[in-house]
Amino acid sequence: MLSTMMPEQLTISTILQFGATVHKDAVVTTWTDSGPRKVTFGDVGARSAQLANALRSLGVDGDQRVATFQWNNSEHLEAYLAVPSMGAVLHPLNIRLFPDQLEFVANHAEDKVVIVDPTLVPLLQPLLPKFSTVEHVIVTGGAAATLEAPEGVQVHDYEALLAAQPTEFDWPEVDENTGAAMCYTSGTTGDPKGVVYSHRSIYLHSMQVCMSDGMNISLDDNVLAIVPMFHAMSWGLPYAAFLVGASLLMPERFLQPEPLAAMIASEKPTLAAAVPTIWQAVDAYSVDHPIDMSSFRSVVVGGSSCPPELIRKFRDKYGINITHAWGMTETSPIGTLSRPKADLPEEKQFELRQTQGRLLAGVKARIVDDAGNALPWDGESVGELEVRGPWITGSYYKVDAPDSFDDGWLRTGDVGYVKPEAFLQLTDRAKDIIKSGGEWISSVEVENYLLEHPSVAEAAVIGVPDPKWDERPLATVVIKEGLADPDVEDLRAHLAERMAKWQVPERFAFVDEIPKTSVGKLDKKRIRSSHADGELD
Ligand code: ADP
Repeated sequence: MLSTMMPEQLTISTILQFGATVHKDAVVTTWTDSGPRKVTFGDVGARSAQLANALRSLGVDGDQRVATFQWNNSEHLEAYLAVPSMGAVLHPLNIRLFPDQLEFVANHAEDKVVIVDPTLVPLLQPLLPKFSTVEHVIVTGGAAATLEAPEGVQVHDYEALLAAQPTEFDWPEVDENTGAAMCYTSGTTGDPKGVVYSHRSIYLHSMQVCMSDGMNISLDDNVLAIVPMFHAMSWGLPYAAFLVGASLLMPERFLQPEPLAAMIASEKPTLAAAVPTIWQAVDAYSVDHPIDMSSFRSVVVGGSSCPPELIRKFRDKYGINITHAWGMTETSPIGTLSRPKADLPEEKQFELRQTQGRLLAGVKARIVDDAGNALPWDGESVGELEVRGPWITGSYYKVDAPDSFDDGWLRTGDVGYVKPEAFLQLTDRAKDIIKSGGEWISSVEVENYLLEHPSVAEAAVIGVPDPKWDERPLATVVIKEGLADPDVEDLRAHLAERMAKWQVPERFAFVDEIPKTSVGKLDKKRIRSSHADGELD
């Protein structure tokens, strides 16, 4: 029997129109050199209509790709809303990819238009002649004159383009299953691969992100979206905020602890989301420059495993419970989120907060062994995590990747187990696990224990070749500012109290900085290449 319900489509234009009318007074604050710059959701709605009209006038009349080369700011939000709503496909370019990767993704996606921030013009300029399908570049912030147009490319000023357009747009009816936005994986191995999100997947994901046992976002929030809009759709925050009328605080390019502290003091965000390395830097900064974090109700940490030490510190020092989340570009990105029941004993809550958490409703998961058998959720059977669901990609854009899928499930490349309470505990990425004498050492576990040492600011552990054991762990360690390098034996003794002796690294490299990926994760690929032969430097 068919239902009697209206076949209304779940689309970005409904999110846009809803946010811009029902929540028209919610505010988007963009941090600038001279402090906060504010617009309302109503303004964003009108400007999104102007942007859509402008893009139409430039010939965007179907599913052409409109790329962005932008920080988190209100203009980027306008593109997030206008481009999919008009039926085109938004393609946020990760500004921190290597130039050849950017060239690859812009050409692979066949981007027609690029919207760029003034401070990123110098980065885009040398790439443009290699972006073979781009016809128009739109520069925000009044900086169009700073961009030299390559042959066949027209350069436009964002504000001038918008000013000439009406603030209404006849948003088309779009099938909810068509592409709304696309992101490429960072391509740690091989070329980056494209994931195309549908209107429906974004809508459903946004609703889940807002749910009280999701990120719990509501109209009472001011959300500090540190996680870049050019990476995994800023974890869904822009659309989620528009869906519930939560104000947004956009840090632009000011991602260092000092300006983050200034914007927290000035704008009093209630919720923030970022990778662990950002919070580690903020916490280190706060030692000499106390930060008032009392406005935060919640801080979401994901993108890589959240060190227990960070969870403990945030709880004890700032009174903030970290919500640990797991996801991938391929999963929109939120797949799991750790929210233990409040009536559990404090130590049990702490244990569960360290896990990647429970599945969001709609996402299915299984842990499989090497033979592909699903393992029980018994808290000890370790295997690869596979997921499926309405906001999980079932393929990659224009490329076959059979190894990434298993009978309709997405293979995540993440290894772990599920506790009987249904909390997922990842132990490592398959490619980062250290195989020593036929046994596995979790690089994440060694890193987490190292971070519990009073002298250690950052740690990354990799496997290096070893003639006897195949691989042995090597730890690269950054020591806290002002402290002397500790004795290696002291670090080893610290670890030996916490893990089996054979898992304790023999080799330690003390470094000033650990290389990070384009999105602030420990860059194990680069660390491995600097220690390919097991040498310490
Ligand atoms: P990249 O591969 O470039 O890092 P993604 O940002 O899509 O691209 O990264 C997804 C991966 O990040 C996951 O497969 C997982 O390995 C890691 N990850 C994300 N969140 C967590 C988390 N909370 N704990 C451990 N690993 C995580």
